[in-house]
Amino acid sequence: MTNQDQNASHKLAMQDTQQKVRSAVAAAKEKRGVIIYLYGNGKGKSSSGFGTLLRSVGHGQQVAIVQFIKGSWKTGEQTFFKNHPQVRHEIMGTGFTWDSQNRERDMACAQEVWQKACAFLADESINLVLLDEITYMFDFDYLNLADCLAVLSARPKNQNVILTGRSAIPELLELADTVSEINEIKHAFNSGVKAQRGIEF
Ligand code: ATP
Ligand code: MG
Repeated sequence: MTNQDQNASHKLAMQDTQQKVRSAVAAAKEKRGVIIYLYGNGKGKSSSGFGTLLRSVGHGQQVAIVQFIKGSWKTGEQTFFKNHPQVRHEIMGTGFTWDSQNRERDMACAQEVWQKACAFLADESINLVLLDEITYMFDFDYLNLADCLAVLSARPKNQNVILTGRSAIPELLELADTVSEINEIKHAFNSGVKAQRGIEF
């Protein structure tokens, strides 16, 4: 194929793609909030959630973060968003961490932070609610899944929600509008590289 032929064929292929994209964009007319569910064993779920949060804040919107695991590391995003006027932030109390062994106390903390999430999920002034690591609450049976589904479904029409966690919970897969599975192809930790500030936390 000559260079000229290649250019002509590229132009045709691009025109075809342009047409398809335009038709798809024109067909999407509904305006409402969505539930985004990011799950899987690869790295990138919470950081994607926080990235979207930043996008929303950048547009002047009000957002809320609810973290269902209290890690022992102080994360960069917590520090960044702390005291930000557009961001409300709740972290699950002294409860569940990887080292936690007190189920009753964990359950009480889960209920407590879920009540805060419910308040955000009923507040139409909040554009985006990030429920980070919420899937663990269902893995451990700390929260009632049916109740959570009902609250998510009854939220304000234009409110967006992001759910993260490793597990694929069938009912959440069904309810969510956008679902991405983040698969681990490789992770530096498995080659012995230490967790790094600014990358892992
Ligand atoms: P991130 O917060 O970096 O987006 P994540 O939310 O996808 O990660 P989690 O399962 O919440 O992943 O794990 C949180 C921590 O574990 C982060 O410090 C992350 O970098 C690290 N991590 C994520 N996936 C892996 C993996 N496959 N192997 C080792 N460490 C991982
Ligand atoms: Mg995470």
